[in-house]
Amino acid sequence: MSSIEKALKSHFGFNKFRSQQQEDVVKAVVKGDRDVFVCMPTGAGKSLCYQLPAVLARGITMVVSPLIALIQDQVDQLQARNIPACSINSKLPAGERRKIFEDLERESPCLKLLYVTPEMLASPSFQPCLSSLCSRGLLTRLAVDEAHCVSQWGHDFRPDYLKLGELRSRLAGVPCVALTATAPRRVQEDVARSLRLRQPLSFSTPVFRSNLCYDVIFRDVLPDPYKHLYAFAMLALGDGSAGKGCGIVYCRTRDSCEEVAHRLTGLGISARPYHAGLKAADRTEAQSNWMQGKVLVIVATISFGMGVDKANVRFVAHWNLAKSLASYYQESGRAGRDGLPSSCRIYYSTQDRDQMNFLIRKEVARKQEKRGSEKEHDRVAITDFEAMVGFCEQEGCRHATISQFFGDKKPNCNRACDFCKDPMIVRAQIEAAARLSTR
Ligand code: ADP
Ligand code: MG
Ligand code: ZN
Repeated sequence: MSSIEKALKSHFGFNKFRSQQQEDVVKAVVKGDRDVFVCMPTGAGKSLCYQLPAVLARGITMVVSPLIALIQDQVDQLQARNIPACSINSKLPAGERRKIFEDLERESPCLKLLYVTPEMLASPSFQPCLSSLCSRGLLTRLAVDEAHCVSQWGHDFRPDYLKLGELRSRLAGVPCVALTATAPRRVQEDVARSLRLRQPLSFSTPVFRSNLCYDVIFRDVLPDPYKHLYAFAMLALGDGSAGKGCGIVYCRTRDSCEEVAHRLTGLGISARPYHAGLKAADRTEAQSNWMQGKVLVIVATISFGMGVDKANVRFVAHWNLAKSLASYYQESGRAGRDGLPSSCRIYYSTQDRDQMNFLIRKEVARKQEKRGSEKEHDRVAITDFEAMVGFCEQEGCRHATISQFFGDKKPNCNRACDFCKDPMIVRAQIEAAARLSTR
């Protein structure tokens, strides 16, 4: 057994790597002679790709992550495994902060992983610490998690991530690993440029997932959309012979979460709403009931699913459109993590489309008014949404559209989408919707 495999077991308690790719990335990061770019789906185990090398390294791995909540989660998990990790953030009590700085000033600090937000990393108060670590050769590696946040083309652009590029030029010789779940081609290029990655080794999981079946149903032409959704859920969940599965329905508003959950329950399937309007305790309960299989369907706004890692999600239905094709791929991709056949469906409605279009344009206008000028990246929200609409209204393979959007080549769909199964049905639906709208 190599020292890497030993550390995987002894520090993390895992018997093997999640995938060949995870192993390849860890080895490349440990080697440390090149920058590394990682694009792997949520749940693939990207954190381990810098955490394990951090444990094996002499110095400190600095991890940049966009949200204190995400950071806290990881730090807690690491500490529970007795791995010396902590975070410096604005919420940290002064006493604890002092303890961390004391450790960092030692000749060989105990700390292995230091988590910071990009704001903290750029803040003047943090610079002496950073310079000191650097000049003593103790900064082994920089890990930038959720690296798509650096791109103006990304769905979660964070201006503070842009400062990382400048920072990197000061940290000459410190290798960088950048990680993200879903990045369209132009976002990947942006990340590499903005973070000044030097000929990075790039690891990307293919976008195409052959066990997911994609289709689009025009909701406006259905006699009873809720019954339709119910039948879809029942079919996807099956008779339980493949083990007990579950599903997610995504809605845009709290009201529609309530309504859809109520209707599904009325039709005889256990469903619970999940949205920001619920008390925290109710939300936690809904989520844990769903995780345990006591509730089969969770009807949620997109706030649900961040960090949720459940293998047997048999379907993801979108009652409303996602705001971009990238978001849609990520949200629908929570289906079928166990590799078994699973369904991803959008209940498309032109009314819903027009409403979202209106809201997105209003938001763009509001931002521009606030700033008094038009920024190119304001328009991204619009073009992103247009790609989402295009996906629904197209006559073509859904898998191909997604793969090409992310810069992958056209996959072999093998009838895993409505168009490849029967293009006439897709056309008939579009025509029916057109007739409806001209009536
Ligand atoms: P990502 O950042 O890619 O979404 P995470 O790093 O949060 O994924 O990991 C997802 C889950 O997988 C975590 O619970 C983690 O502990 C687990 N995990 C990671 N690597 C392995 C492995 N080799 N074996 C088993 N579980 C793993
Ligand atoms: Mg992650
Ligand atoms: Zn297809």
